[in-house]
Amino acid sequence: MRAEAHVAAFGTADGELAVGGIPLTRLTHRVGSTPYFAYDRRLITERVAGVRAAMPEGLSIGYAVKANPMPAVVQHLAGLVDALDVASSGEMRVALDTGVAAERVSFAGPGKTDDELSMAVAAGVTVELESVGEAERLVAAGERLGVLPRAAVRVNPDFAVKGSGMRMGGGPQQFGVDSEQVPQLLKLLGDQQVEVTGFHVFAGSQNLSTDILLEAQRRTVDLVLELAESAPGPVTYVNLGGGFGIPYFEKDQPLDLRPLGENLHRLLEDHLRPRLPEAKTGIELGRYLVGEAGVYVTRVVDRKVSRDRQYAVVDGGLHHQLAASGNFGQVIRRNYPLVVGNRATEDAAGPVTVVGCLCTPLDLLGDNVDLPAVEVGDLVVLFQAGAYGLTASPIAFLGHPAPAEVLV
Ligand SMILES: *Cc1c(COP(=O)(O)O)cnc(C)c1O
Repeated sequence: MRAEAHVAAFGTADGELAVGGIPLTRLTHRVGSTPYFAYDRRLITERVAGVRAAMPEGLSIGYAVKANPMPAVVQHLAGLVDALDVASSGEMRVALDTGVAAERVSFAGPGKTDDELSMAVAAGVTVELESVGEAERLVAAGERLGVLPRAAVRVNPDFAVKGSGMRMGGGPQQFGVDSEQVPQLLKLLGDQQVEVTGFHVFAGSQNLSTDILLEAQRRTVDLVLELAESAPGPVTYVNLGGGFGIPYFEKDQPLDLRPLGENLHRLLEDHLRPRLPEAKTGIELGRYLVGEAGVYVTRVVDRKVSRDRQYAVVDGGLHHQLAASGNFGQVIRRNYPLVVGNRATEDAAGPVTVVGCLCTPLDLLGDNVDLPAVEVGDLVVLFQAGAYGLTASPIAFLGHPAPAEVLV
């Protein structure tokens, strides 16, 4: 997907990129300083509506808070989705602060401490068990508090999902309980003080292949039905994961949700609902809901030519938006889409290399990008910054100030 398509999604005003309908120069004055992250609430709302329209009726849509835990963003999403998935005590606090019912919050992630387990039990959120040891510690936390814990088993499937940007299931994993060990765990928990509601299978992240996602959906449902036979009581909760990717690079095509929704519809109607009539079934999405709704805005502080290469040096960098530098899980560095936001409708004048302000060659934001004639003071905008941006970046590296974040 090309940068022009991202500009079109946000829209333009007065020849500038607009976020939340506000032209970029005006928005920058409103924010008061650069660099900053801006998230467009209209785009988030439309994205959730698009997912709902494509997915089968009654399927629960969850938001994985780790993609973007800004409280205003989580609050906005809390009013749009059915569930919030958190992966730390901090995220759990943000989720509960939105006012969603604790039954709609689930807590996944390895390495949950006893304190975090107690917090989850006290709050009444569902703990997605990552190991036998964690299950035992959860039961103990419930006994200490005199509260019955609610848990689901996170399953490490016996299959891997190819083509994922990050694989989180199949083979040996720190995530979840190996599927072949789940029946034994369920038997163990059968006579313990814990309510086991069901299963969570999350096999991978950032997948742009419909075929692979279809296959993952089928195999996940098969696995859940097989494991449900060992459940101590009725299965009331099934979390099928997600893994829907977004197009970061020019050659990437956006996902077509229709076949994914139709596939899930058939799997639910023909298999899941007849066998597990009490199960509330859902998917959970992080970057797909917020990633394309965010931009990272930086200001050009210097222009230079070094041995025929044109450079624009901006006041931001990988300390805020690590992924755009190619250092967050990419094998081969490719450019994230970027534009000069205050010249959004001008023609390109030639290749410019955009670098951040950190004193390391890793701080490369755009390698030879065709841009309009860039001047000091211009606003360089990096797209696809709504997920895994600020909170997935080494903000203390080199000691520059933190960026602002706004939801417009
Ligand atoms: C990270 C994570 C997600 C979200 O992944 P995205 O690629 O942002 O959709 C969902 N579920 C679990 C368990 C995760 O760890």
